Amino acid sequence: MDASMSDNLYELFESRFPADRAELFIETGDGRRYSYADLESWSGRIANLLVKLGVTPGDRIAVQVDKSPEAIFLYLACLRVGAAYLPLNTAYQQAEIEYFLTDAEPRVAVCRPGTESWIGDCAKKAGTPHVLTLGGAQDGTLVEQARNLSPDFATVARGRDDLAAILYTSGTTGRSKGAMLTHWNLASNALTLHKVWHFQPGDVLLHALPIFHTHGLFVATNCILLNGSSMIFLPKFDADEIVKLLPRATVMMGVPTFYVRLLAHEGFTRDLTKHMRLFVAGSAPLLADTFNQFRERTGQAILERYGMTETGMLTSNPYEGDRLAGSCGMALPDVEVRIADENGTALPVGETGVIEVRGPNVFKGYWRMPEKTKAEIREDGFFITGDVGRVDERGYVWISGRAKDLIISGGFNVYPKEVEEEIDQLDGVEESAVIGVPHPDFGEAVVAVATARAGQTPPAPEAAIAHLKGRLAGYKVPKQVFFVSELPRNSMGKVQKNLLRDQYKELFA
Ligand code: ATP
Ligand code: MG
Repeated sequence: MDASMSDNLYELFESRFPADRAELFIETGDGRRYSYADLESWSGRIANLLVKLGVTPGDRIAVQVDKSPEAIFLYLACLRVGAAYLPLNTAYQQAEIEYFLTDAEPRVAVCRPGTESWIGDCAKKAGTPHVLTLGGAQDGTLVEQARNLSPDFATVARGRDDLAAILYTSGTTGRSKGAMLTHWNLASNALTLHKVWHFQPGDVLLHALPIFHTHGLFVATNCILLNGSSMIFLPKFDADEIVKLLPRATVMMGVPTFYVRLLAHEGFTRDLTKHMRLFVAGSAPLLADTFNQFRERTGQAILERYGMTETGMLTSNPYEGDRLAGSCGMALPDVEVRIADENGTALPVGETGVIEVRGPNVFKGYWRMPEKTKAEIREDGFFITGDVGRVDERGYVWISGRAKDLIISGGFNVYPKEVEEEIDQLDGVEESAVIGVPHPDFGEAVVAVATARAGQTPPAPEAAIAHLKGRLAGYKVPKQVFFVSELPRNSMGKVQKNLLRDQYKELFA
């Protein structure tokens, strides 16, 4: 490493770029190729444009654009000028964007061509002086205005605790919160993942995730930047495309639904994956059934890991050693995981409680929410994840769900996961979501919503309930079971239990 290096994450990446900058960084699904030299010159040009627009270290740059290599160059340009990159889900509409811009007060907002008029209105209200556009085909005003600027830019020195990005949480349990992530939060986590997942020269990552979320942006992209190798960049997940491109990749990262959809594809064969080094899953629980089917079909064990926007990655199944279906693996080397009661007191091994974590990866706090930050980061530095689980004697973490999804029925705690696992084992059932809905006698009643396996008939609800009565204590057995065509999911493949709770809230009213 260069002794003159600051703690700017970009400089860490730069120290790992291939000596021959003509080497490939990104290839798009439609065959456009970008080298590390392109990365350097484009991030330099965009950095010069940002400075020209008055951006100074600490400013925010809000970005709602389609996935493209230029969006990655913009992320890197933000690092280089010391601004905080703030990507937004492309599904957000006007009221949402207005909230995010007003909350973040970015100096520049970058949006898709065609949305600049309504985003311009939001920007005006938020006092954001500049709106630029960026399209998926190297089009838009950002590229136009940056094109003729100098590709050279002296990356601004940054300290470890300086802000690198503000990432909004997925909004699964309520309104999304902006997590403030520092250069060292991101660097430490990327260095750890790069090491524990044994990244090697020449690794090619098949990238079909969105890049407004930690999984696609920081886990996948930062690992490749540290590795100085390349990725195949697809606008979205499409099983046909994946099957076509897998032979050219060595690593794939995905949400569990990617793997479910691959398994449903006839062309997805053992041969296709023979050379693959690693399949990683996360962002939502991977069903044991998916893990097992995948192993049967390909001979490969999907490596499941667990993390969140506020912390980056926390646990991972081992690269070498047992990858256990249903577990998200062990605490990463520099991450401490404890299972605690509501007061933050550690519980004995094997007991179920709230997952709390501490480490260099844990964020600085929620953007402009000091009260919430104080409520969720304890004085000893442990962050209360809001997930519930246990750690076994071998150190494997088993997540049983979110604290907010815990059901209290007649005074008894019901962990949805335990009930879901029983339902998922019934013949003809694909998957299930167990929720609590208001009930006049029990406070909350357990209700299950499930889907049928393709081409199979699920049991009648009464038969399912009768069967579950022989398997689970009475208070855990759903009062009603509904079969639906699919469970509601957000863009990261997370089941939206809040929508289900809303839908069934009048059931016992
Ligand atoms: P919000 O915080 O706004 O309600 P969110 O928690 O879904 O949304 P993210 O930060 O994207 O937002 O997701 C982190 C959460 O995803 C974790 O807290 C956990 O509940 C879930 N998760 C991630 N990986 C796994 C995994 N391997 N198994 C089970 N759950 C996981
Ligand atoms: Mg969360």
